[in-house]
Amino acid sequence: MEKDIKKVYGSCLCKSFQFKVDLPLKWCSNCHCTRCQKAHGSGFVTWVGFDRDSFRIVKGERLLRWYSSSKKSEFGFCKTCGSSMLYRSIKCPDEIHITLVNFNDDLKISPQIDSYFDTHVHWLSFEQDIPKKNDPRFDK
Ligand SMILES: [Zn+2]
Ligand SMILES: [Zn+2]
Repeated sequence: MEKDIKKVYGSCLCKSFQFKVDLPLKWCSNCHCTRCQKAHGSGFVTWVGFDRDSFRIVKGERLLRWYSSSKKSEFGFCKTCGSSMLYRSIKCPDEIHITLVNFNDDLKISPQIDSYFDTHVHWLSFEQDIPKKNDPRFDK
């Protein structure tokens, strides 16, 4: 018997933009870089990496906009509600990164690494015992 590919679904705040991806995911990381902080208005952002081919837009493709955060990378957001959910980069052309919090389904994962921890905010404590380092793969 063939095993079904498990799909997980997510959306922006206004739910006008919806997406799905096939599991398995590749990795999960908290990113503390200043671009993620500014783009999301948040101390850090938890990203999940997937094969780009496994990503599909379910609804609202016309609402998706991309902002170039650098010459190599873009953040994808909903133009109606402003939710920043996606990231792609020529540094990892086979991957799409999606914010964990925008999934409707429980991915049953917790971050395995704190990346760009050198720019972490000082108003939160990070007691979780996971590696803290700079990994270009996660640079937004
Ligand atoms: Zn939206
Ligand atoms: Zn980042």
